[in-house]
Amino acid sequence: MRESALKDLYIEELRDIYNAEQQLTKALPKMAKAATSSDLGSGFEHHLEQTKGHVQRLEQIFEGLGEKATGKRCKAMEGLIEEGEEMIKEDELEDDARDAGLIAAAQRVEHYEIAAYGSARTYANLLGDQKAASLLEKTLQEEKETDQKLTELAESINLQAAEEGGRASNGGKESTSHGRKGRSARA
Ligand code: FE
Ligand code: FE
Repeated sequence: MRESALKDLYIEELRDIYNAEQQLTKALPKMAKAATSSDLGSGFEHHLEQTKGHVQRLEQIFEGLGEKATGKRCKAMEGLIEEGEEMIKEDELEDDARDAGLIAAAQRVEHYEIAAYGSARTYANLLGDQKAASLLEKTLQEEKETDQKLTELAESINLQAAEEGGRASNGGKESTSHGRKGRSARA
């Protein structure tokens, strides 16, 4: 590939993720509010602060490139956020099932970002832009950590749901791992 084509692709990728991060700074407060688990709520709030940092890092990269920091509407993030909002609106869901659904939606977002930052970091390296590559790598690591934390939260929330379900179907006796609310474990 010609270097100019790679650079165009790189800037396209940066504009996409810049817009995606901006969309997220608006969605995360709503997700924090919708979470029942206080751990999940504070996890979303913490990631909101990180996300603001991700936006700033991208602005720094645009500045280094001599490019205006403008985004390009990221349709994927729009769709992912829309699915998260549907989860919030599901009012027949029990609290822990909604939390599990919010986690699943948030992990889809993280996976999208991980793919985008991984590619952008690789392009920056190929183009010899070490400073940008290390900024992108930092963000990439934070997205991966967030994904990992969400996995841990999902395990504890789904375990609670399964245990409650186990108690309900056993008339208060010892719980089994296949409770009636096991459905939420797959949310
Ligand atoms: Fe981010
Ligand atoms: Fe993120």
